[in-house]
Amino acid sequence: MKTEKRIAVVPGSYDPVTFGHIDIITRAAGLFDEVVVAIVNQSVRKSTAMFSVEERTTFIEDALAEAGVTNARVEPFYELVVSFTRRIGAHVIVKGLRQASDFEYEMQMGHLNRQQAPDIESVFVMASPKYAFLSSSWVKELARFDGKIDGLVPGPVVTALTERNAEFRDQD
Ligand code: ADP
Repeated sequence: MKTEKRIAVVPGSYDPVTFGHIDIITRAAGLFDEVVVAIVNQSVRKSTAMFSVEERTTFIEDALAEAGVTNARVEPFYELVVSFTRRIGAHVIVKGLRQASDFEYEMQMGHLNRQQAPDIESVFVMASPKYAFLSSSWVKELARFDGKIDGLVPGPVVTALTERNAEFRDQD
């Protein structure tokens, strides 16, 4: 009997990727045959991204190689996450939950996704305690004001954020 590959989509803006994201992707990669890290190209809800889709893709690919994750690939998407999930032959969307505010937001989104596509299941993975406080936006804020970001994001992201902020400073 031929069994179907179980593919999970892990969507996000990843602007930029943090070790919290990498933790969720790595754990999803342990649960499914294949993981597709789906980068939201342009969000209606969030302002413009700091990093291009290409930069965000490279950051994630490098971090996953470093973490030894071999069954995950990165793809940008330009449609509803459920449409993307269906189009690539996946049936599961994996999201990370940090705290109650994530839960409220994700519950709403999960219900809406289910209303749009009852064949797609949402699976929630609890953030590891050491990353439960971590978000891309806080990392950007810390970096902007010279805060310490090592240990929160991969090395190449630390370098890129430092360079980007130096450019901002030169413009001021
Ligand atoms: P952010 O909220 O940091 O801007 P994204 O929009 O890229 O992140 O989020 C993509 C997914 O990753 C969401 O499901 C979010 O809950 C999850 N996530 C983000 N940061 C973490 C973290 N530190 N630990 C676990 N999950 C996380």
